Amino acid sequence: MLKLYAVFGDPISHSKSPILHNYVFHKLAINARYTRYHLESSEHFRELFFKFGLSGANITLPFKESVLSSCDEIRGIANKIGAINTIVREHNKLVGYNTDAIGFYKNIESKFIKNALILGAGGSAKAIAYILQEHNISVSIVNRSAKNLEFFKRAHFPCFLSEEIPQDSHFDMIINATSSSINNTLPLKESTLKHLFNNANVAFDLMYGKECAFLSLAKDSGVEAIDGAKMLLYQAIEASSLFLCVDSTKIAPIMEEAYDCLIKGTL
Ligand code: NDP
Repeated sequence: MLKLYAVFGDPISHSKSPILHNYVFHKLAINARYTRYHLESSEHFRELFFKFGLSGANITLPFKESVLSSCDEIRGIANKIGAINTIVREHNKLVGYNTDAIGFYKNIESKFIKNALILGAGGSAKAIAYILQEHNISVSIVNRSAKNLEFFKRAHFPCFLSEEIPQDSHFDMIINATSSSINNTLPLKESTLKHLFNNANVAFDLMYGKECAFLSLAKDSGVEAIDGAKMLLYQAIEASSLFLCVDSTKIAPIMEEAYDCLIKGTL
């Protein structure tokens, strides 16, 4: 029987997820199709999921938090984060997972990082904070406004407003988890970033697809710069593994092949 999967978000037309997942289905000779759906509100998500007869789904902006309540069970780190990006149907039960967190961590697992500063306090900052904490990396958060910092304060992460970062602070890795790079603006004052980069080894920006001011400044400061492209790939590998109950080590080389073709424009 044909199995159906979809990614839900708003906007969604740009999503490369169907290409990556359909490539895996094709290579593993699995009778399944993956499509995208423009969701305008999460209110009727559960109804739509069953109406379309889906076996699984991915959830992207801005529904990662609101769709969580449509699930019957939340597994793993998603319980702490309070946001999901992957749903698997088990009989008539929807089970929610967060694979963004592991998708991020796979980028940096081989690096020697003891402490990290996350810029931004939205959904992706939560995923990154908890996966780093699980791997015993100290995490501090900085945000331009106070409201979104409340979640992190309750969870006992050290938190600062942008203008309050201590002068003597020292972080191995600086992660831009704000949306600033979408408009190619810096998430903090240039002088503050230069000071942070002077002591750091790695800079990570969640955005991908074009060079951004944050990573350019990091490179100019002699810091290793990583963008969010592989995070997207790794979260998709983990999601595919959950959809198909196939080990991620078997999915990874296939999806990496699809990803390389996408980058080269041959898929
Ligand atoms: P949210 O909307 O949940 O949070 C955005 C955060 O950015 C908030 O803390 C906000 O501050 C801050 N912010 C927005 N604009 C600026 C700015 N100009 N300067 C400084 N701070 C700013 O977004 P997400 O956490 O879900 O996503 C963040 C980024 O990460 C997005 O660009 C998204 O596309 C990308 N992303 C990439 C992934 C990948 O696989 N590569 C996966 C997930 C996300 P405030 O609280 O004051 O509003």
